[in-house]
Amino acid sequence: MKIAILSRKHNLYSTRRLIEAATTRGHQADTIDTMRCYMNITSARPTIHYKGSELADYDAVIPRVGASVTFYGAAVVRQLEMMGVFCLNDSVAITRARDKLRSLQLLSKKGIGLPITGFAHSLDEIQDLIKMVGGPPLVIKFLEGTQGIGVILVETSKAARSVLEAFFGLKVNIMVQEYIKEAGGADIRCFVVGDKVIAAMKRQANQPEEFRSNLHRGGIATPVEITEEERNMAIRSAHIIGLNVAGVDIVRSNRGPLIMEVNASPGLEGIEKTTGIDVAGEIIKFIERGIDGTEKERRGRG
Ligand code: ADP
Repeated sequence: MKIAILSRKHNLYSTRRLIEAATTRGHQADTIDTMRCYMNITSARPTIHYKGSELADYDAVIPRVGASVTFYGAAVVRQLEMMGVFCLNDSVAITRARDKLRSLQLLSKKGIGLPITGFAHSLDEIQDLIKMVGGPPLVIKFLEGTQGIGVILVETSKAARSVLEAFFGLKVNIMVQEYIKEAGGADIRCFVVGDKVIAAMKRQANQPEEFRSNLHRGGIATPVEITEEERNMAIRSAHIIGLNVAGVDIVRSNRGPLIMEVNASPGLEGIEKTTGIDVAGEIIKFIERGIDGTEKERRGRG
């Protein structure tokens, strides 16, 4: 097989590991810089070009589309879909996953447990919004933040009001969320490939006063046993968003597991180093099954 890895850099851990795993299994894998792809969208035969030549003959694409390039990255993936190339995650699912509010709305509609979450536009509604999510302490989040940036814990109504006023003033879209204190600064990252959670790790915030467990924020990861309920919830959530491969983050609350986020381009470094599982190899195996038709692609079916 000839596999394209859409990634901005070939030396990133995840990109390197995917190339290594593909090569080990006898395939050719190339890193294609998403932002240097250009396309003819009007032709009856859609094409995509890269550094002066047409990208042709690829059997499969692994999109590793970063948050800052979602719009363009999704357009490139869409073009490849129209060319009939097998895309590990499709463009619609990638765009859905990037929008936290949209993802939570879809999950909630299907009965997946979530922290109570509110969304508003007007300053006049702030008091009621705060009350709706159970009052302070509460969490305020940018709709399109990643790696814990733009996730703020506010302890009082007064602080919540000031922070919300500031963000509304800056025209940033934010949501307000119940703070799951009992999670104790920890969450569980479930790595879903197809119909399985192939690896899971617990991430624990490790700095004083830090409640975010992100490894980029200094969180510490350890392997973890997940429950059947958590496993099913992670798989269902990935499928509701329409992702074949996803990093599903779960917090353990007093009322059971709750979904925090579903990530369309989960990093491989933390999960592979923590669990010792060949996650990249599992992804390549999934593509092999996808190409030979034994694995069905997800289309947000839940
Ligand atoms: P990002 O996409 O930037 O990682 P998340 O919404 O996943 O943002 O939040 C980052 C981390 O902050 C989570 O992994 C979790 O540890 C913590 N966190 C976020 N929201 C809450 C919440 N409502 N209650 C408790 N902890 C939270």
